[in-house]
Order: sequence, then C-alpha cells, then structure tokens
Amino acid sequence: MKIVDILGNEVEFNCMGCDIAEHRMLPPGGYVYEDNFINVSADPEIPIPGFMVLGINKHIKSLNELSKEERYQIIDILNLTITKIKECKISDEVLLIQEERANHFHIWVVPTYDWMKVFNKNVRNIDKIIEYAKTNYNDNVKDNILQCVEILKKSFKES
Ligand SMILES: [Zn+2]
Repeated sequence: MKIVDILGNEVEFNCMGCDIAEHRMLPPGGYVYEDNFINVSADPEIPIPGFMVLGINKHIKSLNELSKEERYQIIDILNLTITKIKECKISDEVLLIQEERANHFHIWVVPTYDWMKVFNKNVRNIDKIIEYAKTNYNDNVKDNILQCVEILKKSFKES
C-alpha cells in the first residue's frame, strides 16, 4: 500500500503496524515512545495535533491474543500517553478507539479540542472529526502536530 503522509511524504508499507514497529516506515516526527513491545507515535494520515497511535510489535488483531503481562504493559503505556497529553496541556480529555477488524492491533488516542464541539466530541462522529481535520489541514496545524510530538517525546524521556 502507498499513502501520502501528513508531512507530504509518499510512504509505502505492507502492514503499517509491523512496518512502524520495525522502523521500515517512520511515523511523522519520529517515535514519541518505544520499547521492545510498544510504540507510540503520531498517526501518519490523520492531521490532529497530539493524535497518538499506540502500536505493538506483534501482528495480532485482538487484546485476547496477548498475555496478561503484555496487556498490563499496554494499559500502562496507554495510561502514560493519556497522562502526558493532559500534563503537556495538549487536551484535558481523550477519545480511545480500538477496532479488532484492523489487521494489526493498535489503539487511537485522540485529544479532544473545542472545534470538535460541533461533533459533540463524540467517538460516534470520529469519521466526521477526521474529515474536518483533513479539510482544515494547513501548515500551522502541521507545525502544531510536530510540536506535540516533540513535547510528548521529551515528557516520555523524563518519566
Ligand atoms: Zn502487522
């Protein structure tokens, strides 16, 4: 598959989750957090500042397929991601989305913003929220996305 990411780079991948985990595809601004199992980074296609994707280095679909230890690790890093989004004043609230129909397990962590009020900041309207973000994308938003990546990277390093 081939996409143009939010930085305007044409990127190719087989499985985005595997390719990001194995550094064949680099997420916008680089990795916010990474260990031997989990990675957190900006979504390559969705231009919302602070929008993070928690990915893992196993090609599985469901939380059910993971060990207890792995599930704990995921929740711990997920919690840290949410905490940092709040501490860094990116947003005081997030939406969490995980779909088992995706080929590679990942969790979307979506900070909410005032402009999402027309969509009730509701997960039911996530397609409209994404469409709005894409329609209103510009260089300021791009800078803001990269700033959020840097702020979160720094915050993860300090913890
Ligand atoms: Zn995969």
